[in-house]
Amino acid sequence: MSSKKYQDFQTRVIHECQSPADWQGATLPPIYQSTANVHQTAENLSDTFGGKTADHIYMRLTNPTNNILEQKLAALEGGAGAIVMSSGMAAITNACMALLRAGDEFVCGNSLFMSTYVLFNNIFKKYGISAKMVESTDMAALEAAITDKTRFIYLETIGNPKMDVPDLAQAASIAHSHGLPLLVDNTLATPYLCRPIELGADVVIHSTTKYLSGHGNASGGVVIDSGKFNWATDRFPDFKPFIDRKAELAYRDKVWREHHINFGTTQAPLHSYLTMIGMDTLALRMERHLANAEKVAAFLTQHPAVKWVKYPGLTDNPSCHTAKAQFKGLGFGGILSFGLSDQEQCFRFINNLQMVYNIANLGDCKTLVIHPYSSQYLSFDEQTRQKLSITADLVRLSVGIEAVDDICADLGQSLDSL
Ligand SMILES: *Cc1c(COP(=O)(O)O)cnc(C)c1O
Repeated sequence: MSSKKYQDFQTRVIHECQSPADWQGATLPPIYQSTANVHQTAENLSDTFGGKTADHIYMRLTNPTNNILEQKLAALEGGAGAIVMSSGMAAITNACMALLRAGDEFVCGNSLFMSTYVLFNNIFKKYGISAKMVESTDMAALEAAITDKTRFIYLETIGNPKMDVPDLAQAASIAHSHGLPLLVDNTLATPYLCRPIELGADVVIHSTTKYLSGHGNASGGVVIDSGKFNWATDRFPDFKPFIDRKAELAYRDKVWREHHINFGTTQAPLHSYLTMIGMDTLALRMERHLANAEKVAAFLTQHPAVKWVKYPGLTDNPSCHTAKAQFKGLGFGGILSFGLSDQEQCFRFINNLQMVYNIANLGDCKTLVIHPYSSQYLSFDEQTRQKLSITADLVRLSVGIEAVDDICADLGQSLDSL
């Protein structure tokens, strides 16, 4: 792969793992759209199954296009290895399942992506696994929830739609003092804004569907292993064969060998390719997302129809200080939520928008809006919605990269009409 080492993220996100010499001179990686790979000898196929060669066998196991994206994402997050998967939820499921056995516990923040909440609270429960949910930014509560049965700590860099930002360095140091790994869903920040491994996290997860691909055209997820966590302790006896086989990449090997290949959470190589095209402009897009979101937050704050705005960049947000320090002044993310009078007004606001799309997605280059209470959280009971801060008056906005004046003009004309 690329021999030159660049320092700046803006350059690295484009040139990391570029290898035209291996790609017939092409500037984009090849799409290996082949389910299985020929082996010249029976010995070679046997050696490949035995892990003695890095050749490919079958798409569900590995794929050369996917491998390029894996190396690129691991490099950008400062990890030692990665596995790309068919969706962010596939990545979250595998990342956690590799650490869990019946009867185990883990500690997580309560500001969770909707399907992550369902997975943790409902699905895992069926197998006797207990997610201890605490306020995401309350580090004392996080530590107090740890028991002998705890296997990991799980947080999101920026919670949505609560827009809270936990102190990841502090969470990592609490986790490590108990011999536990910290897993971080870094989807909303991207490695442009935050690299959790540099703050002490042991595993980083993304839904690449969002900012990384950036254009709403490719689902995907990734699990990135820092390679730094010591699994050779009494808490993780089940890691022994993986440590023996892969040393510092024991966790990646466990996720891959035990879960990813058997659950069949294969990434389509075309989606890896589209994700890599999208990533060429990640830094440029993030710069604009972050700048636009700050301006939109300020615009909404001063509009009389808006009751409240949640955005980590606003000084009244409890996470503002942590976000400023953790994101090194680069920005506060591209998502915000705000309140109108009630659901009926939220619907009217959304229906009156002319440019902004009403859609269940985020991190696209286009500005997107949704009323989570009546959509993603429609089937949740009232008590759970309250616990997750999903109120009927809440609108969530994913600020795009259009001219910010046009975004504010569209939001403004709709707010004025209420
Ligand atoms: C979208 C999202 C996911 C799930 O990703 P999919 O690719 O839709 O499966 C997980 N975490 C966060 C923070 C997300 O925004």
